[in-house]
Amino acid sequence: MLIQFVDGLYIVAGVMFILSLAGLSRPTTARMGTLTGMAGMVLALAATIIHSLHMSANDADRRSVGVTLLLIVVVLAIGALIGTPVARKVEMTQMPELIAAFHSFVGMAAVLVGFNSYLAPDGEGGAVHLIEVALGVLIGAFTFTGSVVAYLKLSAKMKSSPLVLPARNLLNLAGFAAFFALMIWLVVADDGSHAPDSLGFILIVVMAALGFLLGFHMVAAIGGGDMPVVVSMLNSYSGWAAAAAGFMLGNSLLIITGSLVGSSGAILSYIMCRAMNRSFISVILGGFGSDGGVVGEARDYGEHREIQADAVAELLASASSAVITPGYGMATAQAQYAVADLTAKLRARGVDVRFGIHPVAGRLPGHMNVLLAEAKVPYDIVLEMDEINDDFADTDVVLVIGANDTVNPAALEEPNSPIAGMPVLEVWDAKDVIVFKRSMATGYAGVQNPLFFRENTQMLFGDAKERVEDIIHALPS
Ligand code: NDP
Repeated sequence: MLIQFVDGLYIVAGVMFILSLAGLSRPTTARMGTLTGMAGMVLALAATIIHSLHMSANDADRRSVGVTLLLIVVVLAIGALIGTPVARKVEMTQMPELIAAFHSFVGMAAVLVGFNSYLAPDGEGGAVHLIEVALGVLIGAFTFTGSVVAYLKLSAKMKSSPLVLPARNLLNLAGFAAFFALMIWLVVADDGSHAPDSLGFILIVVMAALGFLLGFHMVAAIGGGDMPVVVSMLNSYSGWAAAAAGFMLGNSLLIITGSLVGSSGAILSYIMCRAMNRSFISVILGGFGSDGGVVGEARDYGEHREIQADAVAELLASASSAVITPGYGMATAQAQYAVADLTAKLRARGVDVRFGIHPVAGRLPGHMNVLLAEAKVPYDIVLEMDEINDDFADTDVVLVIGANDTVNPAALEEPNSPIAGMPVLEVWDAKDVIVFKRSMATGYAGVQNPLFFRENTQMLFGDAKERVEDIIHALPS
């Protein structure tokens, strides 16, 4: 009876997760979606605790209910003690690396569940279970090291340029072929006794090692500009790792949630690949088929021109239309409130102000949309790249606030560039372009930006928040 109740709770939690995803698909319903997901997670936790206590109470061979409860409380307390300060301290700009770090935990959890499931004395046996264990360990190990590399690249602790080993595609193929050979060996060598043996254990250790190596190698091979797709792919892999753990544990909720995360992550990666004009298969196979491009190619684009905040204020005051294209620098400067303030002031003066958002601007899918929503910029003036690209030619002033790769004409004009082929915001078609940044440094992909040297571009150096505030103060009354 209690087990049916727990299963019922799992189904309700699963439905809440689906509703949460539906809510997250629109900014107006996103808050509700998050709350629904949190409520679903509380329900799922409660059901899991009830289930564990019930198992302890009904199985004389297991630990007592009291000990089980104590273990659960201790584990929850450790999680809360580590998680709460991290969540309180993390800056919005560190969210991508935090998410990558969390994905690595899911991967490692799947590896541990795989080992536990193989070694458990009362565990299931049989070919299907051994295949579940092998796949769970491989996907988990792959997700773990892949996410660690993504974390290191996103937090600039490792170079974002691709690691290009000779014959890297052959190495990957050989790795996967070896995994399948080991999995078949594991299944064939099984004597059907349901008891773990040392050969099986060694095979699983080698499969885990292969997963760790493949995850490291395939993510390290992906260059700066393609990292957004990798982050969402790893999100997807972490879902499949959780689903694999669900199969090993016979837990329907983990299978449902893992599949939801796995498939939504895969869809997001596909959408991002389309937006960036990249082959989905090429990116998930670790940049297979791409030649890597030439990062940081030194080219002489001529001289850049500088402008000061008061001159920008005058330009804006006399403009009839302006487009703001924010990027990662707006996030690091936390300039969104100042930008929202400037937008409101310009609109009050009759300037038609809109935003152009590149699908990979910032360091997270939807990063800019979240920041602008936080600063209460009206949704109807925030447009996607495809919706605004044709309008730049009729725009008086474009303010490029902390964006670089996403407004780089080299993507369209230089076939050897690492970002070649990526659609970008074609801001240079406007009458005047003002670029807010602190120096002439390159963006995330490490590519110089010829936009900065165009005749209609002027650089406004300094922290984006301070410069936007200077413009607000300098606006003629
Ligand atoms: P970029 O990362 O290309 O450039 C950001 C620019 O902001 C830099 O040139 C920097 O120049 C400037 N900047 C940094 N801090 C400040 C500050 N305080 N004030 C003013 N300017 C500042 O940004 P984009 O958003 O254009 O492009 C995103 C890049 O990140 C793409 O290559 C994308 O592929 C990648 N990426 C995106 C992910 C996603 O999911 N969206 C995930 C992972 C990677 P300076 O130092 O001179 O100030």
